[in-house]
Amino acid sequence: MNLGPVGINFAYVVSAALFIFGLKMLSSPATARRGNLLSGLGMLLAICVTLLAAGIAYQWVALGIVIGSAIGLIGAYRIQMTAMPEMVAMFNGLGGLSSLLLAWSEYNQTLHPAAFIALVTVLSVLIGGVTFTGSLVAWAKLSGRMVQKPITFQGQHLVNGALLATALLVTLVFTFSPSPALGYLLFILVLLVALVIGVTSTIAIGGADMPVVISLLNSYSGLAACAAGFVVSNIILIVAGALVGASGIILTRIMCKAMNRSLANVLFYGFSKAKAKDAGDAGPKGEIRPASAEDVFYILEAADSVAFVPGYGLAVAQAQHVVRELGDLLEANGAEVVYAIHPVAGRMPGHMNVLLAEANVSYDQLVEMDDINPRMDSVDVCVVIGANDVVNPAAVHEKGSPIYGMPIIETYRAKTVIVLKRSMSPGFAGIENALFYEENTRMYFGDAKASIQALIAEFKGVGS
Ligand code: NDP
Repeated sequence: MNLGPVGINFAYVVSAALFIFGLKMLSSPATARRGNLLSGLGMLLAICVTLLAAGIAYQWVALGIVIGSAIGLIGAYRIQMTAMPEMVAMFNGLGGLSSLLLAWSEYNQTLHPAAFIALVTVLSVLIGGVTFTGSLVAWAKLSGRMVQKPITFQGQHLVNGALLATALLVTLVFTFSPSPALGYLLFILVLLVALVIGVTSTIAIGGADMPVVISLLNSYSGLAACAAGFVVSNIILIVAGALVGASGIILTRIMCKAMNRSLANVLFYGFSKAKAKDAGDAGPKGEIRPASAEDVFYILEAADSVAFVPGYGLAVAQAQHVVRELGDLLEANGAEVVYAIHPVAGRMPGHMNVLLAEANVSYDQLVEMDDINPRMDSVDVCVVIGANDVVNPAAVHEKGSPIYGMPIIETYRAKTVIVLKRSMSPGFAGIENALFYEENTRMYFGDAKASIQALIAEFKGVGS
């Protein structure tokens, strides 16, 4: 089918508009699903138009689509929610690899491109290569196939700096390289150095910081695609790559801000070092007040307003469905029920939103940290479900704490706080939590799902 340049560009403009509206809709849980669908439609349109306009061997494309779709579908269905960050890492890595291969294949056809094309070609390879191996390391760390703790060695920053400087220098020489033979050598050199940088820069980061790194690598994969778009003169690839690059970096910034850490701190120092330096052994001391299912039931039964505050433990326990069931029972009992979401609760952005959406919690009941905190004093009961750092008052009160300055959900200001967790062990930041020792806090120990099931049984009158 001959669409002509006007038809193709028109379709690309429609695709780009769908991407942008889709992205905008992703910013609210109520519209996120439709936003995702809209962006997907935009991509489908872009792919169809590009294929139709290309006049290529469609049987290979069809084979690729069938194999890729099968792997994607099976992977997406089988993946556990707690393993979602590692799946995203793998997708990012493959995105980087695609841009690298596309640029390489184009280069093979020309071998001596003009300076600008040479530059974008080698940039696709450089950024795509770093994204590929960096994402593989992130995936391996998150999936436990590699040690999670930072792997460091003497002079690591120096080595990484030298590798980067080499890559940039070779990029420059390649761009203006006079001969195809020398060009190919330089090209392969950049490719190898990029693959090494991806590994050496990511192994130094702890597994728990990987979600931030993944968001950054996502941005890189977009930039690699954008550069590849210039290589093949495809407008929609440039636009889509730029959108991914920009949104990835914005997300990275939001995550760092929500943890009150700079990107440099995440990339070069990590929590572990901050902890060792600042936290010492000091921590809150005092009495904890354990509560049984029956005690908690009586507290909840008398409450007019209840705020659930979910954290990583909700994902571990897979307690989202029982939380909703308990929420429904509380509402039926006359309480106002909300779910207060911290932007970095869990291990990936939107982690809690996705879990609660899976359990069909109404979007109207989700409240953001900035909305709940001003009215926290009037909340009767805050039920903290497997959250720790995001409710740790040390972030507000303790200047020496590694998380000082991180915005938290100020549950300690509620009339009563019930904390569901299995033990007194710390959260991601590895520090003790004074909330557990507050006078208005009751510790309800156990796996969150089993604990909530026991409460539901109490509400239904079948508790012991
Ligand atoms: P935390 O990691 O601070 O705490 C999780 C708590 O869940 C632990 O104290 C643990 O205690 C409890 N828990 C684990 N399993 C269960 C279970 N089965 N039942 C009940 N409780 C359980 O989680 P938060 O969500 O509060 O904080 C997230 C942290 O991750 C923050 O420090 C944030 O900066 C960081 N982070 C978040 C990212 C994101 O994008 N969301 C990205 C990178 C980092 P116990 O073992 O005693 O049960």
